[in-house]
Amino acid sequence: MSRYVSKRLSRIEAYTPGEQPQDKKYIKLNTNESPYPASPKVVEAVSADAVARLRLYCDPECKKLTQALAGLYGVGEKNIFLSNGSDDILNFAFMAYGESGVAYADITYGFYPVFAELHGITPTVIPLKEDFSLDVEGFKNQNKLVVIANPNAPTGMEISLSDIESIVLSNPNSVVVIDEAYVDFGGTSAIPLTKKYDNLLVCQTYSKSRSMAGARLGYAVGNEALIADLNKIKYSTNPYNVNTLTQLAGVAAVEDNDYYLGNAQKIIATRVYVIGALEQLGFEVLPSKANFIFARSPKISGLELYLKLKERGVLIRHFEKARIKDFNRITIGSQQEMEIFISKVTEILGE
Ligand SMILES: *Cc1c(COP(=O)(O)O)cnc(C)c1O
Repeated sequence: MSRYVSKRLSRIEAYTPGEQPQDKKYIKLNTNESPYPASPKVVEAVSADAVARLRLYCDPECKKLTQALAGLYGVGEKNIFLSNGSDDILNFAFMAYGESGVAYADITYGFYPVFAELHGITPTVIPLKEDFSLDVEGFKNQNKLVVIANPNAPTGMEISLSDIESIVLSNPNSVVVIDEAYVDFGGTSAIPLTKKYDNLLVCQTYSKSRSMAGARLGYAVGNEALIADLNKIKYSTNPYNVNTLTQLAGVAAVEDNDYYLGNAQKIIATRVYVIGALEQLGFEVLPSKANFIFARSPKISGLELYLKLKERGVLIRHFEKARIKDFNRITIGSQQEMEIFISKVTEILGE
């Protein structure tokens, strides 16, 4: 870093994204992308014509996309916020609602501590219970911004809507953000509760179940006033943060929603296969409602398994954090990819 940088920025430890290696072709099970391509309708929407129109600025209101999502979720257009990936929305939420601090779990999405630091917000870290489930009681009466990934990452575990409702009710003077990046893989969305509570914001993304991680598109659903807050930040930084091609792709994806729900069902079926196969190999696998599983083996360390799989062309995610260093997070790819993964794991354990 340069000697000109602010003290605050020099202290920040930036988020480490999962590897996106360009050296050779891996079976990529490390960043929870979909193994399935975009819908043909999405491919069609991003036409040569649309590319030619890139000379013009995009629609900062994302009108058509807002209408499509409002229709999909049965909410008003003023209840939808769109941005450049849900990371962007989380960043805005920390900026808007973190004045009295923020509460999140010890084992959760690695970006939350980065946003807290970036905005100078004091975090209250609430440890997951012994079995890695969320400590619901711990999140009550915090009276500060509450951020919960549900299903959680990297555990894959979910809390119930009634637990979410009790957390929202017990924090009446602060905002509760539910990050639903993985909800389409068997979870239950809290979106319907946003009609009842004006302090609940639900974020979702096109990056996982909708096969569009590279397009950068996320959305939030909530009370009109919350959406207005987020728009104020967006219009104070970069109103054009969802580009024209991504907006077109986003609308086409909503129009072909069944295709994506079908893919999610395939991933759920493959998840059942992978969990069964790993358990047969002696792994402990946490219950997952996501497109990944979190597993550890008594026979091999998390780091060693990660390294040996990488040598064999399979990438999974290993975290250094003490409490979870025995585990690996494994994205559920296609059935064929996962059969190769299981055969490589079997080979490694047999050595
Ligand atoms: C992947 C992920 C996101 C980020 O999604 P983008 O829309 O790609 O920015 C947010 N939250 C969690 C928990 C995630 O795993």
